[in-house]
Amino acid sequence: MVEEKTQGITVKKKDFSEWYEQIVLKCGLVDKRLEHSRGFYGYPPWGATILRQIEFLFEKELLDKNHNSIRTPTAFPITLLEKEKEHATGFAPEVFVITKGHGGKDLEVPKVLRPTGEAVMYPYFSYWIQTYKDLPFKIFETRPSFRAERTNAIFPLLRTCEFYWIEAHTAQIDNKHADLQVREDMEIFTKVIKEKLAIPFMLFKRPEWDKFAGADYTCAYDSPLPDGKVSQIGTTHNLGLHFSKPFDVAYTDKNNKKRYCYQTSFGMGISKILGMLAAIHGDDNGIILPPKVAPLQIIIIPIYYKEKDKEKVLKVAKKVKAKLKQFRIEMDSREDYTPGWKFNEWDLKGVPLRIEIGPKDIEKNQVVLVRRLDRNKEFIPLDKLNSKLIEKKFEEITELMFVKAEESFKRAKAKNFDEILKKINAGIHLVEIPFCNSQECVDKLKEQTIKVRGIQLFANNEKSVEECVKNSEKKAKGKKCAVCGKQAKVIVWVARQY
Ligand SMILES: [Zn+2]
Repeated sequence: MVEEKTQGITVKKKDFSEWYEQIVLKCGLVDKRLEHSRGFYGYPPWGATILRQIEFLFEKELLDKNHNSIRTPTAFPITLLEKEKEHATGFAPEVFVITKGHGGKDLEVPKVLRPTGEAVMYPYFSYWIQTYKDLPFKIFETRPSFRAERTNAIFPLLRTCEFYWIEAHTAQIDNKHADLQVREDMEIFTKVIKEKLAIPFMLFKRPEWDKFAGADYTCAYDSPLPDGKVSQIGTTHNLGLHFSKPFDVAYTDKNNKKRYCYQTSFGMGISKILGMLAAIHGDDNGIILPPKVAPLQIIIIPIYYKEKDKEKVLKVAKKVKAKLKQFRIEMDSREDYTPGWKFNEWDLKGVPLRIEIGPKDIEKNQVVLVRRLDRNKEFIPLDKLNSKLIEKKFEEITELMFVKAEESFKRAKAKNFDEILKKINAGIHLVEIPFCNSQECVDKLKEQTIKVRGIQLFANNEKSVEECVKNSEKKAKGKKCAVCGKQAKVIVWVARQY
């Protein structure tokens, strides 16, 4: 056998930036080597498959909640983007514009590469929604979108010019139903992100100055990275009537009167979530995948050193593979590599469960089950090895992954500016402070690259976003702004972000 050196990670996770760059390339998540393509990446099979699995999880939840899928154009006339003023101004610095068409001739109306779907989807909404019977109108679209990012802000998967996401949009009969839709979006997000991908997050109502351009209000999900920063991996907006009026998204009510729809939009940052999976769960040896999205859930490694053992071991290994065929399972029987090399290889790629079978195990009628997460080893009698047991192991793995990730999510409180800086610089992800909401204080934080993430939502069984805001204001009464020392208006959380 050839003892080849594995293409392992050469830095420790504590050097996060360098570790992350190696992880995404060596684990086959994205490939950024194409010339003059900063921010636009190719996804090799391993990364693309995980990406699809994440999409499947969200799509299933959306379909279960009566969303239908649609397709709309990737590029659309710039005039559409300009229909909603705030939206146009907000996105202006981030849009790629196509100015030339056939034969290199200037286009009559330049087109934009969609930064988000509102402006191209809502004209269709106006065609497709007619009466109150068409409501609620709930759709989603799985697709790449484009934003022109500052070159120095680009970071594989977490901040890129082309990114993959799912946009779910709805048109509702009134504002109450739009608010309820936002709550449903949060349910979907929690179910996939926390329960299946084991990623912790905090949910915020973004401050007025940082809400989605054209929204009534924006709720956003922030997850922690190992270097102390956070990343926004999803948002859900109540758009009110901001878009339905300019785009004529309207219906006739029971009395045949024209009314405008209340709208919501919900973005799930699929490529960001892939980056977050790698960053949050990975270790010095590679990535660790939650079983739900691992392209390969189980790898069987047959172990034999003598020719006389080979046949016996392979026979049992094949039987085990057949028994567990409902899972994404493979056997690595390559002759040119040692078992040790194979362990490293599949550990690097994050396969959640490994089954080792050697001559001694066959004598004892057992297999060895090894968790990628913590290398925990278990000896399982062959007759006890079945799909029910594996399902249980997968659940345990996902729960343990969540506990571990949640423990690494650092939060604290601060009373003054020095404390904020000290805590953020020490790697605390999110710091809770009383805040006055003034521009000066926002700017003073910004000078230290710290951003206000907003008011925490639904931490105390509140019934609505409005109630959360009121509670935050109540809690701030009599407290001093942690930045300027004047009277505080709300309690907010601050952080550094990608
Ligand atoms: Zn202040």
